[in-house]
Amino acid sequence: MNLEPRTLNPERGVLAAGVDIGGTKIAVGVVDEQGRILAERAFPTEAALGFVRGVTRITDAIDACLSEAGRLRAELAGIGVGCAGPVNPKRGTIDNPHTLPTWDGVDIVTPLRTTFDRPAMLENDADAAAVGEAYFGAGENRRSLVMLTFGTGVGSGILLDGRIYRGAADTHPELGHLPIEPDGPECYCGIRGCIESLASGTAISAAGKAAGFGDARGVFQALANDDSRARDIVNRALAAVRVAVWTIQHTLLPERIILGGGMIDDHFGLFAEAARNAIDAATLNPHGCTDVMQARLGNRAGLVGAAQLVRLA
Ligand SMILES: [Zn+2]
Repeated sequence: MNLEPRTLNPERGVLAAGVDIGGTKIAVGVVDEQGRILAERAFPTEAALGFVRGVTRITDAIDACLSEAGRLRAELAGIGVGCAGPVNPKRGTIDNPHTLPTWDGVDIVTPLRTTFDRPAMLENDADAAAVGEAYFGAGENRRSLVMLTFGTGVGSGILLDGRIYRGAADTHPELGHLPIEPDGPECYCGIRGCIESLASGTAISAAGKAAGFGDARGVFQALANDDSRARDIVNRALAAVRVAVWTIQHTLLPERIILGGGMIDDHFGLFAEAARNAIDAATLNPHGCTDVMQARLGNRAGLVGAAQLVRLA
């Protein structure tokens, strides 16, 4: 089975709108079947202005994108939303008191469906980004893949046969909180020493501040100057990546692991080496069955993937 984009029913239109909602920014775009963004808008989330205002800004932005692309609402096959989780895809609700506190518990799907008279669907933003990469980026027709994003946190998406893998209650497993060091830094997920608490940008920044490097960027600059304390911080993070990839490898055995996120843009080589070391050390898996690739769509993966959700529905 390959992951070619599924053909749309022409009566339902050939375009899809994608909405990528984060704690600080919302990106909106109109996307064609090849994953090309015909028009896009981005604006601050400003969740404190309230959910109703937020929905109005999103619908206005979709209309502005359609207008810029010279297209009509009737040409939309639907609207896909990727949102910083937790979210409930089945109910269409955002359940994120962490980064969208004033929107906690709201139904984002119904107002979009009603306004545009088109199907609308919601997924976790990391899953949406994995869908974007799977179909239009680094996925390259792999049947099973895992995407890990290293930025402020550590995000994850699992795709099996081109579909998002969901857990109980149709929700999203969190590979970013796999346990690594039982006595490591405390995390909001409920344990100490998960991978996010050791290898996220936030974790490396915290360790860097304590060692006098300022932030994660300072740590990597010091590493480039061969500073041993910086090397210790980065090695601890990379050791966490190795253990996490080992666990993923032995649990899911995906054909491809895609690494993305802000830190990967600058340090893919380091993270990929750690991941490949884990894969190469495994004696129980077929040699060479899993490869490691860098994400290709950058911060647009979530937007393109959100639009693609419409085609997978
Ligand atoms: Zn955690």
